[in-house]
Amino acid sequence: MRLDILTIFPGWFEGPLSTSLLGKAGVAGTLDTRVHDLRAWATDRHRTVDDAPYGGGAGMVMRADVWVNAAEAVWNDLPPEATAGRDQPPEGARFVAGGQRPRTLLLTPRGTPLTQGFAAELAAEDRLVLCCGRYEGIDERAHELVATDEVSIGDYVLFGGEVAAAVVIEAVTRHLPGVMGNAASPADESFTSGLLEYPQFTRPAQVRGRGIPPVLTSGDHGAVDRWRHEQAVELTRARRPDLLA
Ligand code: SAH
Repeated sequence: MRLDILTIFPGWFEGPLSTSLLGKAGVAGTLDTRVHDLRAWATDRHRTVDDAPYGGGAGMVMRADVWVNAAEAVWNDLPPEATAGRDQPPEGARFVAGGQRPRTLLLTPRGTPLTQGFAAELAAEDRLVLCCGRYEGIDERAHELVATDEVSIGDYVLFGGEVAAAVVIEAVTRHLPGVMGNAASPADESFTSGLLEYPQFTRPAQVRGRGIPPVLTSGDHGAVDRWRHEQAVELTRARRPDLLA
């Protein structure tokens, strides 16, 4: 899967994208990730990408023209110079703002909540573009012209879309073939089955006087499966009854 990330903090992604399974997916070629500095599409000496809100109020808003031009360059694999400072798409561009475009996710608290099911759906795409907002957010016209989807990672407000984009990338990458190895599959994890996962135990058998449920060492796989299912249902009923409904 190809991932393009648009952000004013490209350095932020160095750790998350190179660590553990995400790093391996990159090395293995499962993920082809490209991080783009939004400021490359600014046109002034100070590389400004924001301005004061029309109508007044606190904070700054990211400029729609910068976002539209950045997206058109990234979608069409063009260098920043090809689109920066323009008010129309580049000649002969395949993907254009407001028209046909790759799946482009704009991270925002008012977006569609990210779920395991939504992540699995996104994992079927060949290509995703992730747009990370900052400040008070992005000019509404860029929401309309750039995003195919608005995505939220939960009902709270972050400083920026970078953390949210990393969350989306991890949730999606777990669904890509080969990433989890044979041993683990997203099929029996929390939410996929509509339930939270059952409790897990490993050695040692005793920790501070606490043992493990005897069924797990009984050797009876049927009994283990039944116990795990009961536990999953019980946990879900206690903590997330909304998932059972
Ligand atoms: N004023 C906005 C919040 C801006 S937060 C509002 O009230 O809705 C700055 C940026 O952080 C946003 O543009 C968005 O990209 C990102 N962000 C913050 N919270 C987020 C969340 N829950 N999910 C996804 N992105 C989020």
